[in-house]
Amino acid sequence: MKPSIEALKQALKDKGVSLSHQRLMVLAYLRDHTTHPTADEVYTALKPELSTLSKTTVYNTLRVLADSGLVKTLTIQGHETRFDLKDVDHGHFKCLACGEIYDVPMDLGALVPGSLEGWDVRETDVHFKGVCPECANKIREDE
Ligand SMILES: [Zn+2]
Ligand SMILES: [Zn+2]
Repeated sequence: MKPSIEALKQALKDKGVSLSHQRLMVLAYLRDHTTHPTADEVYTALKPELSTLSKTTVYNTLRVLADSGLVKTLTIQGHETRFDLKDVDHGHFKCLACGEIYDVPMDLGALVPGSLEGWDVRETDVHFKGVCPECANKIREDE
């Protein structure tokens, strides 16, 4: 279930991040768009609603949110950083044919091996790469 605006506000408070309209807007955007947008995409999407918004603000906001642990950064594709609301545990599947990044629901905590006992694991990332079913179908049809 998607967190409410109130829940997002509370999450900011719990993480000690001071509340601002921009921060809330960016969080809500990531909640509503599970497309793993880049900072530029977030900026382009929010600009019409927030005419005073600057690219620098979006970059800084995303950095603050990522540092607080509310937002996760994905660097699945080398140079570009994408952002994701860190709510329900999931891994990612990057389709090499269409470029889409899909969420893969999974229990990341269960993947931490016993050999890491005593280590303070803060984050677990799982990235799959391959071909999504839709693209696999297309490829099959083309053959
Ligand atoms: Zn695909
Ligand atoms: Zn995701």
